[in-house]
Amino acid sequence: MDRRPEPAGGAGTTGAAAPAIPGAVRGLLDELWSAGHAAWVVGGSLRDAFLGRTPADWDLATDARPERMLEILRDAVYENRFGTVAVRRDGETYEITTFRSDHDYADFRRPHRVEFGDSVEVDLGRRDFTVNAMAWGAPAPSREGPAEPRLVDPHGGRDDLQRRAIRAVGDPARRFDEDALRILRAIRLAAALGFEIEPATWSAIVDRAALVQHLSAERVAAELDRILALPRPSDGLRLLENSGVLECVAPELAAQRGVAQNKVAGEDLWAHTMRTVDAIQADRPVVRLAALLHDLGKPATAADGHFYGHDRVGAEMARAFLDRLRYPKAVTDRVVGLVRQHMFTYDDGWSDAAVRRFIGKVGRPALDELFDLREADNVGSGLAPEAAGLAELRRRVTEQLAADVAIDRGDLAVDGDDLIADLGLAPGPTIGRLLDELLERVVADPALNDRPTLLLVARTLVEDET
Ligand code: ATP
Ligand code: MG
Repeated sequence: MDRRPEPAGGAGTTGAAAPAIPGAVRGLLDELWSAGHAAWVVGGSLRDAFLGRTPADWDLATDARPERMLEILRDAVYENRFGTVAVRRDGETYEITTFRSDHDYADFRRPHRVEFGDSVEVDLGRRDFTVNAMAWGAPAPSREGPAEPRLVDPHGGRDDLQRRAIRAVGDPARRFDEDALRILRAIRLAAALGFEIEPATWSAIVDRAALVQHLSAERVAAELDRILALPRPSDGLRLLENSGVLECVAPELAAQRGVAQNKVAGEDLWAHTMRTVDAIQADRPVVRLAALLHDLGKPATAADGHFYGHDRVGAEMARAFLDRLRYPKAVTDRVVGLVRQHMFTYDDGWSDAAVRRFIGKVGRPALDELFDLREADNVGSGLAPEAAGLAELRRRVTEQLAADVAIDRGDLAVDGDDLIADLGLAPGPTIGRLLDELLERVVADPALNDRPTLLLVARTLVEDET
């Protein structure tokens, strides 16, 4: 440990104001203290409270073992073998974890074995970064009565919060060897808080970037998703790139560095990707993922300043990337579709039928996402968001959708069963071909979309064929 624990006493004696802790959390601390136990607010929630940010969740730590917590806290559920108990209070769930101590690490992943401990200092010592390794609360009451709540900050987390620095607890190289996820956590945390990673921690990250290859795909994807959800994802993505981590988790993205393109003067393809991702709203994770991957095919197709077919190649590469990181198939399909379609061109010579064909090709559900991606792509290219007629195409698409005209087979006034019943046809591929032919005509001329007309057209088509 770098420093001795803060002396006991009121919060004032530590030089730190008490963090803003909600009533329900304070209530849980009180319940544990009254039952004779130590109870502390720890981890990211305390860090966020000191920063005046609303924590995603409140983490509490105690010397009470899980079975004991189940006895003393009502509505408590033992969650997993890591000693965490979940308690419901005021409609929220709070996680309380028994102090942990020693554990074995193997494969640069999470510990194989966790032991319960009795000391908050030991518990803090196994946490990742100094700003995450503070505790506010009190030890078990002594014979003289309960202790005054106070801050325990053995690793200088308060100072690092002040300096806005991410610093590993203890020897950074060892801590990253123990668990390579900490490399991604450092980068994500620095980007989320707008902190710097201090030099020794940074240089250990750079030395050990390749360790992230030992992590499970799901854990890597979870951190990537969190970076993509930041107000400005490029803050985190650039740290991944500068540290060499990107090269290990996404070499196909790292390959964009230094690829020239005639967009923003002096900027390479990677810079274009960063601008494009940042230009998508934070609450559209799938489109941000598509923005990250939209030009994946460019390095492989670059020739004479052009990138012919990069949308097709890029869609295949995006699928491989997302499968590798085990994204759910539904997400992968949407992202791949967007990458595949992102190169559409529009001109004002398009007929309404052409607009309807465009809608049918893209698919109704993907339209909004595709327009958002293309707007961001424009921004990433130093253009106005609605450049290249995008605003007009968007307006015309909205107009067609509002007119409730047929776009796909399901919109036709007849279906396969009608054709079989009315024309006396046998079920089979002919029916599908007929429906496609009818759809093509209806897309060209929506006035044809009523039952008698379509049956008549279908009959003529069948007669022509025979
Ligand atoms: P956030 O919840 O905002 O992502 P957090 O720091 O609370 O940030 P959690 O994953 O909720 O992150 O973890 C809670 C705490 O557990 C951390 O603050 C840290 O003290 C500790 N911790 C989490 N993951 C690790 C790890 N891989 N190695 C060491 N300590 C960790
Ligand atoms: Mg947390």
